[in-house]
Amino acid sequence: TPVVEVKNVVKRFRRESGAVVNAIDDVSFEVPPGDFVVLLGPSGCGKTTLLRSIAGLETPDEGAISIGGRTVYSSAERIEVAPERRDISMIFQSYALWPHMTAFKNVAYPLQSRRGRKVAKDEVARRVRQALELVGVGDLEKQYPGQMSGGQQQRIALARALVSNDELVLFDEPLSNVDAKVREQLRFELVSMQRELGFSALFVTHDQTEAMELAHRIAVLDSGRIAQLGTPQEIYHRPATRYVARFIGAINEVVGTVAGVDGDGVVVDTPYGRFVGTTGGRRFAVGDRAAAMWRPERGLLTRDEPQTVNRWPGRVKAPLFVGSHTEYVVSVGTSETEVRLWSPRSDLVAADSAAWVSVHPDDVLVLP
Ligand code: ADP
Ligand code: MG
Repeated sequence: TPVVEVKNVVKRFRRESGAVVNAIDDVSFEVPPGDFVVLLGPSGCGKTTLLRSIAGLETPDEGAISIGGRTVYSSAERIEVAPERRDISMIFQSYALWPHMTAFKNVAYPLQSRRGRKVAKDEVARRVRQALELVGVGDLEKQYPGQMSGGQQQRIALARALVSNDELVLFDEPLSNVDAKVREQLRFELVSMQRELGFSALFVTHDQTEAMELAHRIAVLDSGRIAQLGTPQEIYHRPATRYVARFIGAINEVVGTVAGVDGDGVVVDTPYGRFVGTTGGRRFAVGDRAAAMWRPERGLLTRDEPQTVNRWPGRVKAPLFVGSHTEYVVSVGTSETEVRLWSPRSDLVAADSAAWVSVHPDDVLVLP
């Protein structure tokens, strides 16, 4: 049985103005045991509302939610299980620690506050110390939150979320308040903790790098709907929509008109030239509007004209050396179209000189 099953959940809010927002708009998905699912999308797309609905902190308007095979919410059956009876842990962006309690007491809190499940005192102490050790702050047991750095506080919050040993842990942007270095470290540790402990995770973020690093699967949210659910590789290489393609990684996008279709191959005429690309199994007809999209790292820059399809003369604007690669901005054709491409080489072409841009047809995805 899936650890979480969300079926056709809808949640509407009424704004002050009276306008109704579909914060969650018919969302369905499952999280199998041990899976790490990241809900990814820009601010306001409904991530927090979805997580709070699963936790029981928000009541949906429609649909059903089950946790570990047990229905915890159903609009049709009029079921709504209280948050503290859902057997899940949750960790938020703000550390939400009790300021008047030591780290030990904060972490022990969920074990003592749960109804109907008294944990013996020495068992509490054992589990709290284990959780603190696990997140690397065993030595902070007696400290108060005010005496700790942000990163340390978030480790305590993490220990508190893990101490109950729940099968499901919900994370709402827990790393967005810690600084970049600590965030990277915590991500890395979170991945190995999850692997070690085996809990299932539903992790909300607006940060695509974070999503790629953490997720077994990513659900990209667009205005309350799931635009695509897939592995990081699927989402990156085979985005279902232009929205997904733009949201994950950098991409060049040129809109034009379909001029020919042959199986999986498709020809698109655009303001800066003809593109040969792949449909990824979608159906197109001649005359359709379509976007040719390709990743900057798949483009090639050469001084001499390459003997391939998908080649355009251009002018290199600014080569930006960023260490691992160099980012070239190239204006192409007579139009003011700019394309970006990344190369491991920094010495290909000087700024403001002529060059050829090319990209292999397999690397051009054509999307409606
Ligand atoms: P995210 O976490 O992705 O930033 P939220 O789930 O917080 O998005 O919000 C989704 C949408 O629902 C937004 O348009 C937001 O303004 C609206 N919303 C969230 N909570 C409320 C509320 N309590 N009352 C009215 N509107 C809300
Ligand atoms: Mg949010």
